[in-house]
Amino acid sequence: MILCFEALEEKLLSGQRLSREDGLWLWQQAPLLELGRLAQQVRLRLNPAIAPRPKAVGDTAVSSRLGGRDVAPRGMDLAVPQAHPVELSIDDCRFSIERPSSNRQSKIDNRKFQGVGVLVPQAHPVGLHPEPVVTFVVDSNPNYTNVCITDCVFCAFYRKPGAADSYTLTIEQVMEKIQRSVERGATTVLLQGGHNPSLSLDYYTRLVRETRRRFPQVTPHFFTASEITMMAQVSGLSIREVLQRLKDAGQFTLPGGGAEILSDRIRRRLATKKGPAEAWLSVHREAHKLGFKSTATMMFGHIEQDEDILEHLDHIRTLQDETGGFTAFIPWSFKPGNTPLEKAIKVHAGPTQYLRMIAFSRLYLDNVRHIQASWFSEGKKTGQIALHFGADDFGGTLFEENVHAAADFINKTTIDEVVTLIQESGFPAAQRTTLYEILRKW
Ligand code: SF4
Repeated sequence: MILCFEALEEKLLSGQRLSREDGLWLWQQAPLLELGRLAQQVRLRLNPAIAPRPKAVGDTAVSSRLGGRDVAPRGMDLAVPQAHPVELSIDDCRFSIERPSSNRQSKIDNRKFQGVGVLVPQAHPVGLHPEPVVTFVVDSNPNYTNVCITDCVFCAFYRKPGAADSYTLTIEQVMEKIQRSVERGATTVLLQGGHNPSLSLDYYTRLVRETRRRFPQVTPHFFTASEITMMAQVSGLSIREVLQRLKDAGQFTLPGGGAEILSDRIRRRLATKKGPAEAWLSVHREAHKLGFKSTATMMFGHIEQDEDILEHLDHIRTLQDETGGFTAFIPWSFKPGNTPLEKAIKVHAGPTQYLRMIAFSRLYLDNVRHIQASWFSEGKKTGQIALHFGADDFGGTLFEENVHAAADFINKTTIDEVVTLIQESGFPAAQRTTLYEILRKW
């Protein structure tokens, strides 16, 4: 089969799934603006299939529904396209021009900016949902401990047990942080921490239970997959049993952090103690089976190769076929400051690579409803442009964030600024819940 942009465009627009070979070609060869244009078409076809919620934030009906364990995100009933080969002629393939790459690690050719390059956010004829709302969540991302025994080489946040500047917060101290976020309107708290072996499972379940009891309007979006694994190791329970305890305490979503790159080859070098890709995948699989929803993430722009990117996305797509439990895919670029990996990385992923990732993931992950653009990790201007490359969500307000800050990467915003940034990009803004239900629109 001859691979070229137009053939793959036809395949995508007819609802077919990209093969891994297709994906690798598109990732490496497609002109960036063409990739963005196509991703935007697919994004408008997929989203937003979100109806306004009937009640406002803080309403008791909303609160109880947010806390209900049977709450499911809307619009996760995407039909999985069938993989049928496309018959092509050489005349279809005007973009299939191989060029040498100057990138040391990648064959991506970012010089291919020629082509239509028209960034059309609205009114595209294939859009099934012509209202291109961009959502965001009002949230905070505090940490309960920086003590960690896992020694990931990309991490500037953690401290070894006993270090002078290590800390572990009490339940009350975490609640005070959540209280401050709630006062600013937060409905989601993404709580995560290091792998601290001195914390019992009771500590984690109390965090969930107290959050649900004191702040019923807040979704406890707590603990990444590797923290769940740590809880299982310390408690002697299985992953499923740990998740069940958290669910019993009131938790119903998991953040997707800790995926890094889901390639064993890369994980062995980046985060040896976190285990293979299956370690992350199995936690999310179990969580989905128990009724949790979760996000999927990727940290790219370090030692990965193009094939690792494809392997990562394949893992996400396959698990999503199996469980349907992912609400969104959230890629971000590696922030090297103050990390052991800093000196080893000569070429960092900049805005161009990020935009390619956003557009490509929109096209490849045909069964994941939302793609998140991050004003926080990539900067506000890049985040705005990403909304024209297939992303339909602007992430969270992140009133508190310490992990990127430890790498000297600090970015702040407010609800008003997020709304303005979205509107300035040409989209109506809408505040959502953790589960992508609309709370209010601007
Ligand atoms: S990324 Fe997480 S698990 Fe790895 S060292 Fe940092 S805190 Fe520990």
